[in-house]
Amino acid sequence: MFSFKEIAQVMGGMLVQHTGEYPVQHLVTDSRKIANAASSVFFAIRGEFHDGHQYLSELYAAGVRQFVVEDASGIMDLTSYPQANVLLVSDSIQAMQRLAAYHRRKFSIPVVGITGSNAKTIVKEWLSQLLSVSERVVKSPRSYNSQIGVPLSVWQMNESHTIGVFEAGISQPDEMEHLASVLQPTLGVFTNLGSAHDEGFTSQTQKLHEKLKLFAHVTQLIYCADQPVVRETIQAEGLPGFAWSTQEHPAAQVQLKVLEMHHGKTKVRFRYRGNGQDLTLPFADEASLENALHCLAVLLYLGVKPEELGSRFERLMPVAMRLERKEAINGCYVIDDTYNNDLAGLRIALDVLGQQARRGRKTLIVSDLLEAGLEEHALYQQVAQEITARGVDRVIGIGDIITRHQDFFPKGSEFYLGTDSFLGQLRSETFRQETILVKGARVFHFEKIVAALQQQVHGTMLEVNLDALVHNLNYYRAKVPAPTKIMVMVKAFAYGAGAYEIANLLQFHRVDYLAVAYADEGISLREHGITLPIMVMNPSPDSFLKMQQYNLEPEIYSSDLLHRFLDYFPQKSPKTPPIHLKLDTGMHRLGFDAEELEEALAVLDQMPHVRVQSVFSHLAGADEALYNDFTQEQITQFQQMATRVEKELGYSVTKHILNSAGIVRFGEEAAFDMVRLGIGLYGIESAGQEQSSLQTVGQLKTTVSQVKSVKAGETVGYSRRGVAAQDKYTATIAIGYADGYDRRFGNGVGEVLINGQRAPIIGNVCMDMCMVDVTGLDVRAGDEVLVFGEGLPLTELAARIGTIPYELLTNVSTRVKRVFFNE
Ligand SMILES: *Cc1c(COP(=O)(O)O)cnc(C)c1O
Repeated sequence: MFSFKEIAQVMGGMLVQHTGEYPVQHLVTDSRKIANAASSVFFAIRGEFHDGHQYLSELYAAGVRQFVVEDASGIMDLTSYPQANVLLVSDSIQAMQRLAAYHRRKFSIPVVGITGSNAKTIVKEWLSQLLSVSERVVKSPRSYNSQIGVPLSVWQMNESHTIGVFEAGISQPDEMEHLASVLQPTLGVFTNLGSAHDEGFTSQTQKLHEKLKLFAHVTQLIYCADQPVVRETIQAEGLPGFAWSTQEHPAAQVQLKVLEMHHGKTKVRFRYRGNGQDLTLPFADEASLENALHCLAVLLYLGVKPEELGSRFERLMPVAMRLERKEAINGCYVIDDTYNNDLAGLRIALDVLGQQARRGRKTLIVSDLLEAGLEEHALYQQVAQEITARGVDRVIGIGDIITRHQDFFPKGSEFYLGTDSFLGQLRSETFRQETILVKGARVFHFEKIVAALQQQVHGTMLEVNLDALVHNLNYYRAKVPAPTKIMVMVKAFAYGAGAYEIANLLQFHRVDYLAVAYADEGISLREHGITLPIMVMNPSPDSFLKMQQYNLEPEIYSSDLLHRFLDYFPQKSPKTPPIHLKLDTGMHRLGFDAEELEEALAVLDQMPHVRVQSVFSHLAGADEALYNDFTQEQITQFQQMATRVEKELGYSVTKHILNSAGIVRFGEEAAFDMVRLGIGLYGIESAGQEQSSLQTVGQLKTTVSQVKSVKAGETVGYSRRGVAAQDKYTATIAIGYADGYDRRFGNGVGEVLINGQRAPIIGNVCMDMCMVDVTGLDVRAGDEVLVFGEGLPLTELAARIGTIPYELLTNVSTRVKRVFFNE
């Protein structure tokens, strides 16, 4: 193990304080993911939106004692960190890379470095699966392939490993050299060249040239000779290529022929060093084939015996990266992580469990681990230690290996030999008010457990893509000057997406404020452990005391409301909630006009115990260029009124006026101190831009219940409105107006997407179902139906029935299950 002095030397920089030695075990760059404070080294990194230096004192209080910082000013007062070791460097990421490179040099095992435009993660996971039969593999967790992800991946290497398999990804020039110095691959795999990250490079060739820098020192570079640019560049750069080809390219060492591809299997014949052999792969699509052939070439190069290949490839399993979260029985919440249950995968999942703000116990249901890197005893000892360090309250272990090592686990943990024996004793009262992480290796079929815990089983669901939501958040953040605060509107169940989960994610991503329409919505967020400041836009006076109790901040929009507020919090009452003054600059909905404002300020002058936290106004036509002049007037008037408020109060307050459309169109000049993001976060473009940079967040899906044939002249549904002019096929789908599927979509107005094909609604929409015309389409009972989402945008659907996406989103009924996921 390293000492801080040693790593300080490796990283360079200046050791500004050294107070003692602590174990150097965990490298941490995210202050929210500290599990083992005492043995962690925190690297303060400045990102586009966050600065790790802001969290130093918080981390010190949590027990972290080892810091690598770029800026000593935040930590300059070293007297506040009496026991800390502090290393000052010019670039924290590079310092971490140097440390990882130093660690890497201690091992002389083969290391496979994988890069390319697509499929890095799949090739890495498959190669690890294939090699783990005979090797102890260390690999990148999930898609840890960035400037930070690569050093963290390499840091996992230890004496027990016999091979490393890591991926590296870049988005701009000059990044790969850093990754190459950390990975020091001995063997390379180039997956393919596509258009991902084109915007960061001047040309495809520049991008390829950059990527190939990973392989400057490899002994062999595995690639497909059938992509001419790739082949020619690799040859031109004199890299030691080891190629495969399905097109008989003479440069290829491994020649392949696809014999057949159907029924979920692909049969290939390969020739290598004069020997030929057939191999069956357990899938039938081109992308998987390419990925598997890269792996095959690596295995052949490494000298795996041809007769062993069949049994290794036949067990190849699809790579699942999805992490879903959903409501479950008895007020529980399930986190369902389908990614590998190995040590690194488990750690990441435990971090997610830790980030769930929801109160109540934290429970882990975990199977045997498929960890190729460690000996059994040491592995489970470490698993138990990680679980304890993360404050898991309840552990349920499933599998004979984990059961054998149950003594390592906290008292009260339960163990079962198999999934079925666990399910056999499961009662509905077994779980109550818990956040349950379900983490099982594929062979344990934990999907059965998830199904048993799940609350609603009605087949209609709103899938919410949390990665897309974060992408959208960052898109809007980049539209306003850096210090601008972000308030996110999570009113109306977060625009139908699910208030608690969205608020939790926003809290994790450190937005500054949340806003809801009613006190009840705010209370529910507090009860789920949300601690961000929350503004309530339409507080009723009888909720003021509750609001104080739950630390919610009212919007005050009229003199009348101000007086009612003061009835509850008269002169000098302790713990008076701060208020937000709403100004009416032209929307004419709620708010003080200039005259009423004077009156309110006169009252507030007498009430210094009432703190005005912010003043704000709302634009009536931010989305349309037609109203630009009016918007400018609103902004000017807001500016004047806000200045007036500050002058009268004698202190500065947070000022904000922009909604989503406003941020896009006026973010440069009118962001003031804060902006209020709404619909855009949920992926709906509202500023009238043709090309949207937003990603789709919500997809409403249901299933086909039945397919019917209807004869010419017959009718479909209530009031016989759906008339079949000729013979037709119809599909009945499990969504109706009670789910929020608007009745105006009936009779051909609306369409759904089934297997990528559009099908119009036939007849009237019923309460729980409707019928679609699937004549000539390939549709069967049980097929998935997209009601809105990718390929069927809400903006288009809303226009068809003369409404706006806001209404369709917020109408999705609460009986529709929300499923949240990350990739
Ligand atoms: C809902 C709301 C917003 C957000 O509007 P979007 O158009 O969804 O961005 C901003 N401010 C106020 C006062 C709101 O009520």
